[in-house]
Amino acid sequence: MWELKTKYLFKGRLELKTALHIGGGRLNMMNTDSPIVRTPEELPFIPGSSFKGAFRSTVEKIAVSLPNITTCQLIEDEKSKNCPTAYHKEFAKQVEKMKDEKELVETLKEKLCNTCKLFGSPYTASKIFFHDLKILDWAGVTQVRDGVVIDRDSERAKDKLKYDFEVVAPSSTFDMEIWLENPSKQDLGLACIGLNEYLSGMGYIGGIKSRGLGSCFISDLKVYKLDLESEGKEERLRKYLIHTEPEKKMDEIKNPEQFVQEKTEAILLSKEV
Ligand SMILES: [Zn+2]
Repeated sequence: MWELKTKYLFKGRLELKTALHIGGGRLNMMNTDSPIVRTPEELPFIPGSSFKGAFRSTVEKIAVSLPNITTCQLIEDEKSKNCPTAYHKEFAKQVEKMKDEKELVETLKEKLCNTCKLFGSPYTASKIFFHDLKILDWAGVTQVRDGVVIDRDSERAKDKLKYDFEVVAPSSTFDMEIWLENPSKQDLGLACIGLNEYLSGMGYIGGIKSRGLGSCFISDLKVYKLDLESEGKEERLRKYLIHTEPEKKMDEIKNPEQFVQEKTEAILLSKEV
């Protein structure tokens, strides 16, 4: 049975250091080869799935070097015995044969890597949720940048293979909301490692990274917690249920940046896997 025990909300602003391109939008007035994604109101936004992908790979790159932490980085490897996600097909066959659900749960608990446990795998749901990021401050217009297709053999630009793409300008900001449910110490630590990268200005998002696009950072971080495990949980549950705004539903953590640092350090000292 799934039971809500703890919940965290990380709120803040995602600010662009360089221009941002998340393609996939419909053709619009800008008349470009690669338009950005927009809301039905025609405003640029960042899909939660794009942010999650960038955040996950940021965490995975660091997780590789951490003691006591495992990550398959979603690299499929039939020979690997590390995480079932990495040898997906073989494991899928084993799962089919498992009659007992308890056996499956225990196997996944034992075998899934830490980043698959947090961000989800073909067998388990994610514990971390990224909302779509609405645009807050921006110039009100996007820009179109020129690109060229490089000939791999001559390394010269192919004259007739020019293309352009739409970008959101640097300094634009987006509203960020990340939720985390029932995290283990490792889940919380890994989420904080990701947040710390973005707080330090090492974050990125979106496409055309090779042109330096999508560099960004998190500012104005606020952390809220719902704790239904320790003493006083009845009152916290009441507060959570009667209010509608996250700020009133949950308890705000006083020093969010210190909280992120402490949870990051906790994962380094952790012995559990
Ligand atoms: Zn994995």
